[in-house]
Amino acid sequence: MLKYIPSLTDIVLEEIPHRVTLAVEVSNCQGNCPGCHSPFLREDIGEELTPARIDFLIEDNYGVNCFLFLGEGKDRQALLSLARHIRKAHPSLEIALYTGRDSVEPEYDTLFDYIKVGPYIQSLGPLNEPTTNQRLFYHGKDITPTFWRKK
Ligand code: SF4
Repeated sequence: MLKYIPSLTDIVLEEIPHRVTLAVEVSNCQGNCPGCHSPFLREDIGEELTPARIDFLIEDNYGVNCFLFLGEGKDRQALLSLARHIRKAHPSLEIALYTGRDSVEPEYDTLFDYIKVGPYIQSLGPLNEPTTNQRLFYHGKDITPTFWRKK
């Protein structure tokens, strides 16, 4: 089961370049980032993110063209299953994942259009800092510098 924080669900414009993205904050984070910016996301809180809930969220936010999982939670099969659902039920949407891991399994590349990898390290900064250790890939291509040109 994957859980998310309903009150934090939002449309975001910065996280994925050139996309209107519906983002859900996933709890039960298994990461241990130094300087974690959202420690509450390590807790077992929130509500279950089901296919039906995702359908509702997408229909309730007409016009979005990307769905972003902010975190992986602790149930990998549930995450991958939800990504497959979005691909099948909402083929016009792209799918994105922010993970705190340094790398992901090859299977992820077939399910997610965008994958951000790397733990958050406060001294190196987030994705929009050229010093960052984090990387955003689009179909395997590193597009992290896109964020730097905006600064
Ligand atoms: S990925 Fe890292 S920064 Fe994000 S919630 Fe988990 S531990 Fe915190």
